[in-house]
Amino acid sequence: MPARADSFDLARLNLRSGEGKRIDLEVELGSFRYGEEGYVAEPSVVPVLLDISRMTANGWSLRLRFQAAVRGPCMRCLEDAAPPVEVDAREVHQPGGGDDLESPYVAGDELNLRQWAHDALALALPAQVLCRPDCAGLCARCGANLNSDPAHTHGPDIDPRWAKLGELKLQETSPSKGPAARSDAGDDLGRGAGTT
Ligand SMILES: [Zn+2]
Ligand SMILES: [Zn+2]
Repeated sequence: MPARADSFDLARLNLRSGEGKRIDLEVELGSFRYGEEGYVAEPSVVPVLLDISRMTANGWSLRLRFQAAVRGPCMRCLEDAAPPVEVDAREVHQPGGGDDLESPYVAGDELNLRQWAHDALALALPAQVLCRPDCAGLCARCGANLNSDPAHTHGPDIDPRWAKLGELKLQETSPSKGPAARSDAGDDLGRGAGTT
């Protein structure tokens, strides 16, 4: 069983510049807020693969890989969802290298593995957490779940607001259109007869 680690002492590996090591560990991932909803990593403690390379000038090059699911409400239908997420994150830490080269997860030789894994999973979340990629969502009119009722229909009845709009249009156009349409048709007929 890999060891459970919230943080990891990089110095204890005694790596020299250019050397590297791959380590199996277990990390707790915690929970996430995404929009209005809360999500939890599943399982809460995941096995991770940590690649550690010692660079020149006491720097570290790090790679963290793991898989987890995020469980919470589907963003389309609100049913339970737990899509799998694959994480492959990298960090470079060069002490004294400035913000671009100093990792927020390394302090001294101590790697804050728990925070890094949590943030890396948050960054790897899909744009929408869905119960399945083709989730049909909810009916916009009655809220029925369209996954369990794909043939869902409301029949031919029309929204009363649209029905009113239809009546108005009919009243506006019918008085002027009637005679005009008839005279146009007459002209066409006359010209047509003249040319043949
Ligand atoms: Zn769904
Ligand atoms: Zn409906």
